[in-house]
Amino acid sequence: MNPALRKEYLEALGVTPWVLRAGKASEAAGVVAQALQAPPVEENLGWEQLRSRVAACTRCGLSKTRTQTVFGVGDQSADWLVVGEAPGAEEDRRGEPFVGRAGQLLDSMLRAIGLARGQVYIANVLKCRPPGNRDPAPAECTECLPFLERQIALLKPKIMLAVGRIAAQNLLKTDSPLSKLRQQEYRFGAARVPLVVTYHPAYLLRTPTDKRKAWEDLKFAREVYARVDR
Ligand code: SF4
Repeated sequence: MNPALRKEYLEALGVTPWVLRAGKASEAAGVVAQALQAPPVEENLGWEQLRSRVAACTRCGLSKTRTQTVFGVGDQSADWLVVGEAPGAEEDRRGEPFVGRAGQLLDSMLRAIGLARGQVYIANVLKCRPPGNRDPAPAECTECLPFLERQIALLKPKIMLAVGRIAAQNLLKTDSPLSKLRQQEYRFGAARVPLVVTYHPAYLLRTPTDKRKAWEDLKFAREVYARVDR
């Protein structure tokens, strides 16, 4: 990427560029993520059938309070899959994940590693908004995860970026804090998709001092992607 442009993106992210220490990527632990434990969605369901299935879903109580489901957005042949937590108020209104200020910051984070929003696929663990932006209940995640699992099977991403504690903990089936999960390379599901964890942009808006760590994570993800067979 053009260095001046990259600097501009990093400034938008609130990060001063610096050089990663040599060898950091090779320290990846390579921990294997467990497969999802929830009832699967049929394997023959294509994108549009899956979208319709989600739009009509009443598997959990969030169906009663949502304005609409938020399925996911982006290039259905993307190498990168970004997975967040759940729709917020703005996403619930617009039907698209990561809009508003957090979405703008996510876009800046992606641009900092040379990716336009349209080049990735973006989805959440939960397709419906938890009222008052509360944390999703474990049972809600269990009910909803098969939809994401089917999205992953259709997309066949080369790398997954889990943003935020809820996404990371649900995908990795752990209750470890995010600070312990980042800077490691995991493998997700039967396809062993490389998975890297970083902070949620909404958290970074509240805690801008951690943007530098997010930048470390993004560079780490880019290094993991560079090693992937394509
Ligand atoms: S959150 Fe998921 S499981 Fe619950 S109603 Fe919405 S789509 Fe269905």
